[in-house]
Amino acid sequence: MSYNIIVLAKQVPDTKNITGDAMKPDGTVNRIALPTIFNPEDLNALEEALKIKDEYGAKITVLTMGPPSAAEVLRQSLFRGADDVILLSDRKFAAADTLATSYVLSLAIKKIGKFDLIIGGRQAIDGDTAQVGPQTAEKLKVNQATCVNDIVELTNDSITVNRNTDHGSETIKTKLPILLTITAEANTPRPPSVKKTLTYKNALSLIEKNDYDEEYLKSNKKPFVIKNWDHKDINAKTERCGLTGSPTQVKKIENIVLETGNFKNIENSASGIKNLISELMSEHIIG
Ligand SMILES: Cc1cc2nc3c(=O)[nH]c(=O)nc-3n(C[C@H](O)[C@H](O)[C@H](O)COP(=O)(O)OP(=O)(O)OC[C@H]3O[C@@H](n4cnc5c(N)ncnc54)[C@H](O)[C@@H]3O)c2cc1C
Repeated sequence: MSYNIIVLAKQVPDTKNITGDAMKPDGTVNRIALPTIFNPEDLNALEEALKIKDEYGAKITVLTMGPPSAAEVLRQSLFRGADDVILLSDRKFAAADTLATSYVLSLAIKKIGKFDLIIGGRQAIDGDTAQVGPQTAEKLKVNQATCVNDIVELTNDSITVNRNTDHGSETIKTKLPILLTITAEANTPRPPSVKKTLTYKNALSLIEKNDYDEEYLKSNKKPFVIKNWDHKDINAKTERCGLTGSPTQVKKIENIVLETGNFKNIENSASGIKNLISELMSEHIIG
């Protein structure tokens, strides 16, 4: 059986290389000042989809909601083996919290139609909430399994996965269709293929078209056009999109620099460790 898989991928600020003010005075992310990357665990999500495609056959559609520059995440997905890509970009989607983000993603998935699996990353390195996957599954009324580190078995109508829990891990079997969120330990993402990179290096979304000279677009080397859907294309209610549709607004963000305070020598013995653990528990640092 060949599977229809939708991968959720986000373009995120490269939080390791922040240049300039990360936040605007209104509490939204100053994305201009931040170099962007493919959200790391979304590369693991894409890799999990590609492994299913290698083993069983699949059509992989990658979906991202973001500014026009987020099309780069979709090019990177095509370079690795995605079959189709869709950019959800509209000023009305800007500054969305997880509720508004999952609303838009769920409407786009309804527009795509039939799917067996939706695969996203466990969490994004900027918002770090890990909420979008489960919220999207709820809106689509489909099964979900989060923090998946291994797909044990996949059949025509069921899936068995290993997932991390707060107390270790568990193995669950459930019915398709399903939404999975994948952790970094699940796999090692494959690099872009040279052949696919040459094929799709000029893929562009129409909202990026301005970056390309008209002559080139008229030339017979027609680039792969990345579909861009706005709020009208997915019948979204604008009051449920972007900042308007976001009950959560980021008040303030501070860069926390962890400084070493006073330190204490711990006796290198079982009782030394035991005393350390009971001290950390009594201070509610662990446990
Ligand atoms: C510092 C900071 C703190 C924030 N705190 C909150 C908060 O407490 N509550 C809140 O509601 N919002 C918060 N936000 C806003 C939040 O980042 C955005 O709503 C964001 O679009 C989704 O949340 P997330 O980054 O936590 O993603 P997560 O829920 O961690 O993402 C999980 C997975 O969902 C998929 N996904 C997420 N966003 C997209 C997308 N745009 N396109 C495609 N797939 C996607 C990816 O597969 C991703 O791996 C915060 C933003 C910042 C920068």
